[in-house]
Amino acid sequence: MKKISLIIPCYNEQDSVPLFHAEVSRVLKDMDCEYELVFVNDGSTDGTLEKLKQLAESDEHLTYLSFSRNFGKEAAMYAGFCNVDGDYVAVMDADLQDPPALLPQMLELLESGEYDSVATRRISRKGESPVRSWFARRFYQLINRISDADIVDGARDFRLMRREMVDAIVEMSEYNRFSKGIFGWVGFRTYWLPYENMERVAGESKWSFWKLFKYAIDGIINFSQAPLSIASWGGMIITLAAFIYMIVTIIRRLLYGNEVIGWASTVCIILFIGGLQLFCLGIIGQYIAKIYMETKHRPHYIISESNKKDTKWTK
Ligand code: UDP
Ligand code: MG
Repeated sequence: MKKISLIIPCYNEQDSVPLFHAEVSRVLKDMDCEYELVFVNDGSTDGTLEKLKQLAESDEHLTYLSFSRNFGKEAAMYAGFCNVDGDYVAVMDADLQDPPALLPQMLELLESGEYDSVATRRISRKGESPVRSWFARRFYQLINRISDADIVDGARDFRLMRREMVDAIVEMSEYNRFSKGIFGWVGFRTYWLPYENMERVAGESKWSFWKLFKYAIDGIINFSQAPLSIASWGGMIITLAAFIYMIVTIIRRLLYGNEVIGWASTVCIILFIGGLQLFCLGIIGQYIAKIYMETKHRPHYIISESNKKDTKWTK
């Protein structure tokens, strides 16, 4: 019998965890397969770990990996991927925004043999602020245009994948992780399953607008060199403009003599070019910062407590 491994990153989810566990167990028990639930406690400061320990006592399917601090959802997902051995693997949010009811259908699609992964996307953003939705849409448009990672609008991290794809993802051990990009980059045949947005069952979202904005910028830098091209093209165009202006100035000097005019425009130009140079340096700096972090080869995560056999404590 095939085995499904579910990875559930949890950060301060003490109220959602029991609800999620009950719901997902109900669905999985009716399915014709073995399963394991691997909760990754991402340095929660509330009672999440205690809740997980309690649940683990009465459910042999449940294991937990507990981080030594908050490493972020990306690290939690990676730790999960490194620590599961199912034939099919999925990441699910603990807040029931990824409906477990979709699992039987996803499994069926995978078992048909036509696909290597079944991914989900929200077709509505009900319950989300309009400003946030607007920025999210623009982000997807932009990143699809400038990177080779194929990312669908409304894509979730919730997808059921075959072992081969999971191995490929574990193989991508970059420090700056952006899973939506990684899933697209590794390729494989993907089926997109649309569903209506759900609101979280308990607790609140860990993603402030600012955090999400930085995540989007990281995504772009991790999967595209377009900002670097913009910097060099911008530089080229301005050099050309300056050259033309130089010729105009020489001609003017020959025709009309040496008038001292235009100090205001000179100051404007100096400020403009200075600003632009700093901006481009900043772009280059962002890439260098990423290289710097990559070269340190720090572990993605550190597990301080776990009830799983053969835990990979760090990677
Ligand atoms: N999460 C995590 N570490 C973090 C932030 C979030 O493991 O630093 C988990 C969180 O517990 C949840 C999932 O990632 O299971 C998605 O987070 P959330 O629901 O807050 O995001 P949203 O659905 O609002 O985008
Ligand atoms: Mg959520």
